[in-house]
Amino acid sequence: MAQIDLRRKLAVLADAAKYDASCASSGSTKRNSLGGKGVGSTEGMGICHAYTPDGRCVSLLKILLTNFCIYDCAYCINRVSSNVERARFTVEEVVDLTLAFYRRNYIEGLFLSSGVIRNGDYTMEQLVEVARRLREDHDFRGYIHLKLIPEADARLVELAGLYADRLSANIELPRDEALGRLAPEKDARTIRKAMGQVRLKLEEARPERRDRKRPPAFAPAGQSTQLIVGADGAPDTEIMARSASLYGGYGLRRVYYSAFSPIPDGSSLLPPTKPPLMREHRLYQADWLMRFYGFSAPEIGEGADDGMLDLAVDPKLAWALRRREAFPVDVNKAAREALLRVPGLGVKAVDRILSVRRYRTLRLQDVGRLTRSIEAVRPWITALDWTPGGLTDAADLRARLAPRAKVEQLSLF
Ligand code: SF4
Repeated sequence: MAQIDLRRKLAVLADAAKYDASCASSGSTKRNSLGGKGVGSTEGMGICHAYTPDGRCVSLLKILLTNFCIYDCAYCINRVSSNVERARFTVEEVVDLTLAFYRRNYIEGLFLSSGVIRNGDYTMEQLVEVARRLREDHDFRGYIHLKLIPEADARLVELAGLYADRLSANIELPRDEALGRLAPEKDARTIRKAMGQVRLKLEEARPERRDRKRPPAFAPAGQSTQLIVGADGAPDTEIMARSASLYGGYGLRRVYYSAFSPIPDGSSLLPPTKPPLMREHRLYQADWLMRFYGFSAPEIGEGADDGMLDLAVDPKLAWALRRREAFPVDVNKAAREALLRVPGLGVKAVDRILSVRRYRTLRLQDVGRLTRSIEAVRPWITALDWTPGGLTDAADLRARLAPRAKVEQLSLF
């Protein structure tokens, strides 16, 4: 293979990494300081933004070690049968790039994934070696997220967790059957085994209060995974059930949802079009309801039709519209759990309500000051001076609350 320069490698391997949503970058308009105007650039190849567990937004160098892969996953642009430009970094190159970007203050950490080269162990060894050199040889204190190669030896997974802040093994397809069909070399049981191993290590690393000696840190930012939405036939309710079992079974910090996007030379086994991006957004909202609002996956499914979340309204409102008997909720008496179910009330607003009502009785306007739209909350609550009467059960409530479709310019022809 002809040698390609480092800059070209960076372009190829940063582009190849963009399909991994478990470290999603937000889309911003492209700006740069070429020509001497302004400072900085949003076009840095491979730099993406991620959120740490304490909510900080950090910039990461997000790259693949290589986009060569011996596997042939139908949904992946890097599969062996794909006709794309290939590149491979050496371990030294990734270490040097990371340090150079870090010293220039472009990034606060590294997200490193890879196609499978030779075999799982060899690939994982290379990923771990990057992290080891950064930590041990250069005392690198930035954030490191390593992608696990599930087939790799347990010893390598353990080492990865000693150097990385976060580990992730991608489940990719919600249905095991689809994984067997579309990614023939992958085995859902192997992926789950790797995730289970990380969970055990995370638990072992959690210090007991009575422990004098702290156990060595292991992936302190936990583990995450990614599910591709719309590549197999799994409806949203099945995806939510899968996520719930992943959170419960493996103590995941996050499940990321990535709308399937057709790739060049795509396999005929895959749908020709991508699902609406709004579907991905609704799944993130539903996931949020499970993690912070006390909803179970089947409850969220009550607001769905034929297993699909309503694209016109958010999942909490969709649930409330189907479960009107649970409303109105008295903001002056209801438990936190019931208040969290009120459409339009977020966690912060609920906690504020609970604290304010200790010393005074809330009126509708008081609640209005804590929410973005009092109109959204009105049908679902009672307050000192407010009761919704027949509004909660009004037949046209959904139409009143659903955001109006954007006005589009009509075609002239
Ligand atoms: S193993 Fe990973 S990189 Fe290789 S083809 Fe499958 S999804 Fe792509």
